[in-house]
Amino acid sequence: MKFSRRIFGAGMIGGAFAFALTAPAFAADRLAVVATTGMIADTVRQVGGDLVEVQALMGPGVDPHGYRQTRSDIVAMSRADLTLWHGLYLEAQMEDFFADLSRKSTVVAVADELPRERLLGHADYEGRFDPHVWMDPTLWSGVVDAVAEALTTVRPEAAEAFAANAATFKGELEALATYSTETLSQVPAEQRVLLTAHDAFGYFGKAYDFEVMGIQGISTESEAGLSRISDLVDTLVSRDIRAVFVETSVSDRNIRALIEGAAARGHEVVIGGELFSDAMGSEGTYEGTYLGMIDHNVTTIARALGADAPEKGRLGQLSAGS
Ligand code: ZN
Repeated sequence: MKFSRRIFGAGMIGGAFAFALTAPAFAADRLAVVATTGMIADTVRQVGGDLVEVQALMGPGVDPHGYRQTRSDIVAMSRADLTLWHGLYLEAQMEDFFADLSRKSTVVAVADELPRERLLGHADYEGRFDPHVWMDPTLWSGVVDAVAEALTTVRPEAAEAFAANAATFKGELEALATYSTETLSQVPAEQRVLLTAHDAFGYFGKAYDFEVMGIQGISTESEAGLSRISDLVDTLVSRDIRAVFVETSVSDRNIRALIEGAAARGHEVVIGGELFSDAMGSEGTYEGTYLGMIDHNVTTIARALGADAPEKGRLGQLSAGS
C-alpha cells in the first residue's frame, strides 16, 4: 500500500516471532487514510496517532469549493483503507465521485454527522447548510468523534486507543475555545465586524458574537457582482469599519477593490491580516495544524480589531507577524 510503512522493512528476518514480541500493536500495518482537507487530515493524525498514515488531498492555500479530484488522488483513494471527506456540500465538485467510491470502499463524510440544530443556513444558500464548521472548536469536537468512529469501523481492535486520543484532542479543543472566547470578548462592541473575501466565518460570528460579512457567498464558486462590492463600500464608510481580512485560499482581488472603493470616498481601510479560512498553513508549521490555524485566526482578528491578544497566540507558537 502506498503510504503504509513497515517498521521492519527488508530487515524483518526472523519472521513472525520477533515481530510479535517487539512490534508495537498494529504499527507494522498502519491504516492508510485519505482526507480531503488539511483540517480533517490533522484530526485523523491526532486521533489515529501512530496507527495511521494520512494523506490530505488539498494542501495549504487550496480552495475546497471548486476542487476536483486529480488522477493521483483517485489512485490514493482506491488504495486507502478509509477515505474521509467533509460533506455538507463543501467539496461540491466531488459529490458524485464520492457517491461512486462509497460503493467500493469505506468512505465517510465526517461533518455530515453533526447535529442539524447546531448547523447554520444562509440566505443565499437555500436548502443547504454552511459547511465551515471548523471555525468553532466546540463544533469541530463533533467531527473528532466522527473521525474516531470511522477509524474504529475499519480497525475495531484499536477502539480504545482511538477513543483515548480523541478525548485528549477534544480537551485541547476546549482549551482553544476558552482562549478564543476570552480573547475575542476584549474586542470593543463597535469593532465586532469581520469582513472577509467569502462567507467562511458564520460559525465564528455565532460563537464569538461578531457580525460577519463575505464579499462572495458561502461558496467561492459564485462570483461577487459590482453591486455587492459597492454595497459593502457603503457599509465600510457608514459604519466606520477600519480593517478587513484576506484569506489564504481565496484571491485578494475583491478585498483590494473594496479598499480602493473606500479610499475613493476618503475612508481609509487596512488589511487586518491574512486568515486561514478554508485551508491551513504550511505543512510542518504550527499554523499547519488545526489548533494553530484557529489560534492564528483568533489572535490576528483580535489584535487587528483593538484587543490585547498575545502576539504569538495562545501557546506562544505563532510565527511572528503572522
Ligand atoms: Zn469556504
